[in-house]
Amino acid sequence: MKQKSGKKVFLEILGWTLVFMFASVLAVALNVHRYVDSFLDAYHGYYIDDLFISLNIAGLVGLIYSLFRVKDLTVENRRRREAERNVEWMATHDALTTLPNRRMLDRVLASEGPRSARTVFSVDLDGFKRVNDLFGHAVGNEVLKAVAERLKASFPDDTLYRIGGDEFIVITKGADADLAAASAQRIVQQLTAPIDADVMTVDVGASVGYAFSLGGADALNTAILHSDYAMYAAKAAGRNRAMAFASSMEQDVYKRARLEGALKRAVREGTIVPHFQPLIDLKTNRVNGFEALARWELQPGEFISPAEFIALAEETGLIVPLTEHLLRLCCIEARNWPQEVGLAFNLSPVLLSDAVLGLRLIKIMSEEGFLPSRLELEITESSVMKDYPAAQKVLGDLMEAGARIALDDFGTGYSSLSQLSGFSFDTIKIDRSFVTAMNKGERQDKVIRAIVALGSGLGVKTTAEGIEDEEQLAYLRSLGCDIGQGYLLGKPMPAEAARRFMQERLANPVPPSSVQTDSASSPVAALPAKRRRA
Ligand code: C2E
Ligand code: CA
Ligand code: CA
Repeated sequence: MKQKSGKKVFLEILGWTLVFMFASVLAVALNVHRYVDSFLDAYHGYYIDDLFISLNIAGLVGLIYSLFRVKDLTVENRRRREAERNVEWMATHDALTTLPNRRMLDRVLASEGPRSARTVFSVDLDGFKRVNDLFGHAVGNEVLKAVAERLKASFPDDTLYRIGGDEFIVITKGADADLAAASAQRIVQQLTAPIDADVMTVDVGASVGYAFSLGGADALNTAILHSDYAMYAAKAAGRNRAMAFASSMEQDVYKRARLEGALKRAVREGTIVPHFQPLIDLKTNRVNGFEALARWELQPGEFISPAEFIALAEETGLIVPLTEHLLRLCCIEARNWPQEVGLAFNLSPVLLSDAVLGLRLIKIMSEEGFLPSRLELEITESSVMKDYPAAQKVLGDLMEAGARIALDDFGTGYSSLSQLSGFSFDTIKIDRSFVTAMNKGERQDKVIRAIVALGSGLGVKTTAEGIEDEEQLAYLRSLGCDIGQGYLLGKPMPAEAARRFMQERLANPVPPSSVQTDSASSPVAALPAKRRRA
């Protein structure tokens, strides 16, 4: 564009020069100067010659002035075009990564679209929000730039878009299934490699979905939608993986959208309630406390597993109001229990990045008249062991108020002993998987034995989860495990059943030597427990 305008001005000047030269030649050919001379001689008395010279000088000055004006206009014109191009570029590109953006993609889709086959990859980062929340936007931006660079390097001849916060789309030529699978796998691998951002190195991952378009804008549009579905399926299947679109995924997306709507309503209307599972002191057989476990009854008799809806609540941000609502109901119930019976309450790892959460939970307890010293918070080891400032703040506030901390699902995370010693907690909950596998192998036995020894070494209590038979119970007791939890000792039950459970226990205390299966403990079928991943 710049060249064209310069050329135009040049042609204009050349044109006028030619016209001038032609006029001069014509004037010479026709002896015009003679006419002029005689004219000037004839009217000498009227100073026509002076006037003529003045006019010539004025014309020359005017010519010089217009040459400068032409130059100014050219510069102005060029600047305007540049600005227009910048605005256009900014509207269709992402300034951070310089990749084309969603608007550009929409423009491509509004046109006829490519005629031949394409493969569409939807890429969504895993754990990006956490990086952003914990380390700030500067680090987040570095991560996005690094991701874009890796994608550009990996797909130099293809079209890339950044279409949302941490979402990218790659469109390649052709529709070869094997090639697509390999490319998708390559994206996952490249994006899970550590990223140097600002002053630190961070790990994110990526979930990738892909689908094929056989040509045309409509087909491309559908392929983008399908690759998105596949990406969600990859995320749901455990992140950091790639998946090809399958038609069943469409159903899953609708199901999820419906469930999300229902969850929003349930949280708003407060229909999700805590059930309570007894925690039994293995030395005295007394009720040490209850663990609150969320229960959502979609319609009479139809429960949705907490593993499913807690994960959904975490993804959608509903976990905050849900947790606050559940804690309030727990406080209202547990404040009437005998003083020595405590409340164990699960805290999702997602919540630990909200620095003021601890104070809000303390406020709820004080509003409902429940002492924080009766509360034990269950958090997974991996959620705190990373030494995040926000997690330390949340737990610090709660501990200061008197609450205790239990490490849930112990043995399934990645904490090292040195990390454990640097963090203060009160209870270790041995993950159910070790108890379940106990009778099956000597190694599992040894793991449990080691965890119990670790607990007594650190001066913290150990709780064994998932005790289902007498053999497990007897063995755990013989190891010196402090507290037991499991279907054998009592299933999760509604609030009134928990009250009855305590009353019956008080009326007929179980002697320390043997613990019987309690019939009062199973009025509600407990849900199959799936372990949740942080
Ligand atoms: P968790 O914290 O490890 O809870 C223990 C799970 O094991 C519960 O599953 C419980 O019903 C189950 N369970 C207890 N005893 C036995 C047993 O003897 N055998 C077997 N097979 N299972 C047993 P549930 O209620 O389905 O909860 C699953 C997970 O969902 C919980 O695992 C917890 O991580 C999460 N969750 C539940 N309620 C809440 C909540 O209110 N907030 C948060 N953040 N997470 C919750
Ligand atoms: Ca728990
Ligand atoms: Ca657990």
